[in-house]
Amino acid sequence: MTDALLHAFAVPSKPESDYINLVSAHGSTLVDDSGKEYIDGLASLWLCQIGHGNEHVIGAITDQLSQLETYNIFDPFTHESAVQVAEAIRSKSPHPDGRVFLGCSGSEAIDTVLKLSRMIQQRRGQTDRQTIVRRLGGYHGVNVGGTSVQGIAPNREGWGDLLPHVVEADNHDIESASRIFAEQGEQIAAVICEPVQGAGGVIVAPDGYLQGLRRLCDEHGALLIFDEVITGFGRTGEWFASQTFDVTPDLITFAKGVTSGYIPLSGVIMSNAIAGELEANPGKFMHGFTYSGHPASCAAGVANIEVIDQLGLVERARSIGEHFSQGLSALQGDGMIDSYRGVGAIWAMELGRDSVPVRDAMLDRGVVCRPIGEALAFCPPLIITDDEIGQIFDRLEDALKNS
Ligand code: PLP
Repeated sequence: MTDALLHAFAVPSKPESDYINLVSAHGSTLVDDSGKEYIDGLASLWLCQIGHGNEHVIGAITDQLSQLETYNIFDPFTHESAVQVAEAIRSKSPHPDGRVFLGCSGSEAIDTVLKLSRMIQQRRGQTDRQTIVRRLGGYHGVNVGGTSVQGIAPNREGWGDLLPHVVEADNHDIESASRIFAEQGEQIAAVICEPVQGAGGVIVAPDGYLQGLRRLCDEHGALLIFDEVITGFGRTGEWFASQTFDVTPDLITFAKGVTSGYIPLSGVIMSNAIAGELEANPGKFMHGFTYSGHPASCAAGVANIEVIDQLGLVERARSIGEHFSQGLSALQGDGMIDSYRGVGAIWAMELGRDSVPVRDAMLDRGVVCRPIGEALAFCPPLIITDDEIGQIFDRLEDALKNS
């Protein structure tokens, strides 16, 4: 085993041999190189809606690879799978008459949406509007833009200067955002916000918070961005969390669940009004990635959306939510956890102590979940069975008692 690979969000000196070496996966099950099986209680990293090894998506990818394995969509080129995935994505979104820009990673989608929202303000003649309001606890990826606008301080530290013109609002209290708008409303280009903060600990926006942001943006001429990289594609029990919470942002970022992670795909959905503003300008849109609209990623996206539809996974997210909320309520009733929160198929519990030992005990017992401070998060594939959810809770009870 060599030490060539530098792992993501890991201590660089940790030896390669100390990692869990996964060799295969099917459904909600992962298998490591010793043959041990794990229930994937995090859907990889909040993304594998349709579960592992789905033949329809794998077939769509291989068919696309054998027909047109790569090409860009820079002017003057296009291809059918990019056109189709954009149509499929917008038709499920709150902007069925909007337009869709494509990238690969969530971080690319975030940098795109930051540039786009500032560009729209510049084109409106609002040249002083450069400020982005971020939320405490928000996570928006690791590119320079996303690092600057995320509200998890340790992720921003140690890189030197990040983007200027960023201010932070509290994540629970709309009054904090109101104060920022009262003081700097003329300078604000956009507010960026996850409807449910994932990496920040599965923080569901409190009642009225998202509506409050919408109102502030409307009153002050700012754009509202929802980062739906985790919450999109059924996770919260609707195709998008914007629909779950009934608040329509101007711009939506997506990634992860759009292909269930089979191949990277991400992007930005913009409202018809924003698209109209772009179209009104005769100049070129000077933005795009080599892999924007990669044919294989787009074919994966189309097939993945078909699977979510055919298997009724958006509705399934709601029944997963009922199982999790019952199980977590029982654990709280037994005094084993302090509290819990979540919506659809994304949940976290507060343990009142460091959650890493409990995560480790869960790995020993063959379940993947995510420790976040004193919280433990679950975000399973939407194809997870009731029996598998039961196994998660059996093992969780045992891990909580014995770690
Ligand atoms: N936005 C949110 C809400 C995320 O959770 C993530 C990744 O977890 C990102 C953006 C960044 O996505 P990526 O890691 O694909 O760049």
